[in-house]
Amino acid sequence: MLKNKTALVTGSTSGIGLGIAKALARQGANIVLNGFGDAEGPKAEVAALGVQVAYHGADMSKVSEIEDMMKFAAAQFGQVDILVNNAGIQHVARVEDFPVEKWDAIIAINLSSAFHASRLALPAMRAANWGRIINVASVHGLVGSAEKSAYVAAKHGVVGLTKVTALENATTGVTCNAICPGWVLTPLVQKQVDAKAAALGLSNEDAKKLLLGEKEPSMQFTTPEELGELAVFFCSPAGNNVRGVAWNMDGGWTAQ
Ligand code: NAD
Repeated sequence: MLKNKTALVTGSTSGIGLGIAKALARQGANIVLNGFGDAEGPKAEVAALGVQVAYHGADMSKVSEIEDMMKFAAAQFGQVDILVNNAGIQHVARVEDFPVEKWDAIIAINLSSAFHASRLALPAMRAANWGRIINVASVHGLVGSAEKSAYVAAKHGVVGLTKVTALENATTGVTCNAICPGWVLTPLVQKQVDAKAAALGLSNEDAKKLLLGEKEPSMQFTTPEELGELAVFFCSPAGNNVRGVAWNMDGGWTAQ
């Protein structure tokens, strides 16, 4: 379905980003990966799906590096047809204790990077009259949780950015939507499981159950594969008129 299309997925060396990149690759899209840590493993996993893959290590908190990555993607594959703004970090502390540099980093990586990548991708999408921007927000784009001020503020911002981007392109073939996962067991969440286990003297399994029990009625983690299939739907012809939604996949978290 996505043969001859190119998808750039930020923060795709791990977790949800890699899951979405692989789901789009299974549909035939060429992939530009981004993120820190080992890139060779993720590159090989995507290449094994029979598509072309490239990697750019832009730090998504730096505007000049985002600009460089977008130029690199266009040079590699002609243009970016599908942009998945996924890179994100977390830090947990009360507002009065929140380290200022962590606030700035979370707003830059989780929110501003989506604006920069989108503004750079849109002209070519508009010219082709086809494009998909998929912003990985969170249930925290819809509701709050204590000790996550920067993350919740950034993710609510991402949902707002999604609506405006969708509206500005509503009469074109370019759509913009957000995905709002509940708990997904990636390194980002494992850190929170570890912190709970250490603070309360729990096993890894009991800390996971506690985390799920606090928020997620299904008592199940959403998987990167499931989120990847939602991204595929947004890219399908059936998604042509899905514009500006914030679609939760959260085991009932926000239904409560
Ligand atoms: P993860 O830690 O597994 O992956 C994060 C990715 O972002 C990695 O590839 C990492 O290298 C990259 N990254 C981090 N800082 C970066 C930077 N400055 N520049 C470029 N890349 C950077 O985390 P994840 O759980 O897969 O999170 C992916 C997205 O999903 C995030 O936006 C996160 O907020 C969102 N999310 C996660 C969950 C969850 O439960 N895990 C729930 C809702 C939303």
